Amino acid sequence: MLIQAMTIEECWAMLARNNIARLACARDNQPYIVPLRVDLDGQFLYGYTTLGRKIEWMRTNPLVCLECEEVSTDRVWASLIVFGRYEELPHIPENVDARRVADRLFQRHIMWWEPATVPLDGHERQPPIVFRIHIDSLTGRRTIYEPGLREREGHPPESQRPHWLTRVWRRLRSDGGYSSAVSAPGRMARRASRPA
Ligand SMILES: Cc1cc2nc3c(=O)[nH]c(=O)nc-3n(C[C@H](O)[C@H](O)[C@H](O)COP(=O)(O)OP(=O)(O)OC[C@H]3O[C@@H](n4cnc5c(N)ncnc54)[C@H](O)[C@@H]3O)c2cc1C
Repeated sequence: MLIQAMTIEECWAMLARNNIARLACARDNQPYIVPLRVDLDGQFLYGYTTLGRKIEWMRTNPLVCLECEEVSTDRVWASLIVFGRYEELPHIPENVDARRVADRLFQRHIMWWEPATVPLDGHERQPPIVFRIHIDSLTGRRTIYEPGLREREGHPPESQRPHWLTRVWRRLRSDGGYSSAVSAPGRMARRASRPA
């Protein structure tokens, strides 16, 4: 398995096709993270919500971080990290254009208002809030997993490994490959703990 930095074009493409992200904000040195839906348009991610902890915190400190990922298996994944700034879009003349963009984006999803506006059981419904995150920077990393890559690089395939090495390797993997690797003396045990 190789891990590669994604190109900026790949990052934007992945952000465009992922509507669910984890939004992290912070106040008084305390991080807070929530999953929610966002929609990309230009340099902004648009979201729909109601008043609660994340909005209170982002009003105090607009600097945020978002993360989303596409995971197929442990070895096949891609993830994005976005740094940005929170901007609320209340109903005022300056926000007419931005709110129109938000409306157009939200309409693409069935029942788009539901996760944001359905109140917590036993609580009152809150008025909706439209916001956007200005994207200051984004990075992406993904794995390249090609079965057989290690063999092409000259490592012996599993079937050609000595049986004792395969047994040690399996035992290490079954406990996460950690405790034995740490406690087993000698170079062999440390070598065996390396992923195949
Ligand atoms: C797939 C998905 C999509 C979502 N889309 C949206 C969306 O578009 N808009 C939207 O507003 N919300 C969405 N939500 C819900 C969102 O994750 C938050 O629960 C919600 O926005 C309330 O956040 P808040 O900061 O206002 O919490 P508050 O209502 O102020 O709650 C305060 C406390 O409740 C707990 N809490 C809040 N949310 C969660 C949670 N999700 N899981 C566990 N504990 C929690 C935390 O301890 C938090 O500090 C989505 C959730 C999921 C899983």
